[in-house]
Amino acid sequence: MVIIGAGECGTRAAFALREMGYDGTVTLVGAEAHLPYERPPLSKDAMVASETPSIKAISDAARLSEHRIDLLGASSATSIDRANRSIRLSDGSDLDYDKLLVATGATPRMLTLPGLGARCVYLRTFDDALAIRGYLRAGAHIAIIGGGFIGLELAASARKLGADVTVIEAQPRILMRGVPAEIAAVVHEAHAAEGVDFICGNGIAAVNDDGTSVRIALASGRAVAADLAIIGIGAIPVTALAETAGLTLNNGIAVDAQLRTSDPNIFAAGDCCSFPLAVYGGRRVRLEAWRSAQEHGALAARNMLGADEVHAGVPWFWSDQYGLSLQIAGLPDEGEHTIRRDLDDGAFILFHLKHDGRLVAASGIGPGNAVARDIRLAEMLIARSAHPDIDALAAPSVKLKSLLAA
Ligand code: FAD
Ligand code: NAP
Repeated sequence: MVIIGAGECGTRAAFALREMGYDGTVTLVGAEAHLPYERPPLSKDAMVASETPSIKAISDAARLSEHRIDLLGASSATSIDRANRSIRLSDGSDLDYDKLLVATGATPRMLTLPGLGARCVYLRTFDDALAIRGYLRAGAHIAIIGGGFIGLELAASARKLGADVTVIEAQPRILMRGVPAEIAAVVHEAHAAEGVDFICGNGIAAVNDDGTSVRIALASGRAVAADLAIIGIGAIPVTALAETAGLTLNNGIAVDAQLRTSDPNIFAAGDCCSFPLAVYGGRRVRLEAWRSAQEHGALAARNMLGADEVHAGVPWFWSDQYGLSLQIAGLPDEGEHTIRRDLDDGAFILFHLKHDGRLVAASGIGPGNAVARDIRLAEMLIARSAHPDIDALAAPSVKLKSLLAA
């Protein structure tokens, strides 16, 4: 069993193969020179914890060895020879496989403007985080291009470290895609209260990075000067390897509900693939979220061993900014109307329903873990295609657990 990509998904798959009792060789090929690590802390805790962020490893070397997982670190797969079932590595050697999992993840979408230089950076890897951390200090001015998750989590971290922050978002509001306006407004207010300056609905006309500072000219004529510009304008799936090998692509590597590519011996999973989501009648989606990457890794491993199981999960993700936690289960854009449930301490949940009353998503925001339990229960209702009573959803006195029982 060979796995390309030692990220969240690939690493989870390697362990899952062993948990399933597979006794043959498991090789995990990873382009990065570190042990497999968690990405979510890079924009949050790891960024503010100390002057030198440290890695939160998914597994240490001892555990990999105990499970007989051969990690080939700092090693890239450069091609796949499907006819001979082997991959070529960056050192020129070949590695044969019976089944192959491509878990190559995603990479930041690049801002394609002239004038970008060393002071214009992206965040995806631990090495990126180390480079960014060096600039986050009191008195520094950080411009963040893109009011998405990377941008906002980094804005919160930068403010905690005392830097001045300006967020530039091309859309009329932050978190335009996938996050309901009522929730985005709470996030916006929290940042504004912490002193973040927002410029929304304004495109970038030009960037001038002279290597010591950056000047960003906006379409409106306004200019923003910064010590560092962090660009967080989305991520694109890493598909070059799959494309050259002739695998079918469709918003990433196209896989079926069992995560099988157009080649039956090759699976793809995690951020790099799009797949049919059973809970929405087979709608093809590509998710960029930590838990889905884990679930995909485990499912791909089972199917590489012949289980033939379909992906039956409900998408879920979270984001932490200041003391607030945002959580979304399901895809809110599937909803046709919304019911609001107010919880304590300003926390609330929006339930997204179809016209026929089927619950399709739930999004919530509040301090700490305020929304976690209800979102978890909502997720179970979504998985069951439940049509919960609308008055009960809106009433915080009615426990969601009772709706599950119903
Ligand atoms: P990745 O984690 O991207 O791993 C893919 C790996 O494959 C990489 O290490 C890459 O170097 C390697 N690779 C690529 N090509 C090759 C090749 N040819 N040969 C060898 N190796 C290769 N999600 C949430 O739900 N909540 C969060 O709070 C959250 N926070 C995040 C914060 C940050 C800063 C980032 C970047 C992401 C965050 N995410 C979060 C998203 C989550 O981390 C990703 O969805 C998850 O990491 C995807 O896992 P993956 O294994 O598919 O891809
Ligand atoms: P994102 O959440 O998709 O947000 C990108 C934002 O930038 C969007 O609002 C986008 O608007 C905007 N944008 C696009 N082009 C722009 C431009 N030219 N100028 C200004 N704004 C522009 O992606 P991200 O924040 O960059 O995150 C990258 C990856 O990390 C994703 O995979 C994400 O899931 C992951 N991540 C996740 C979390 C989390 O789940 N908590 C945290 C950090 C990172 P449009 O919608 O119009 O494109």
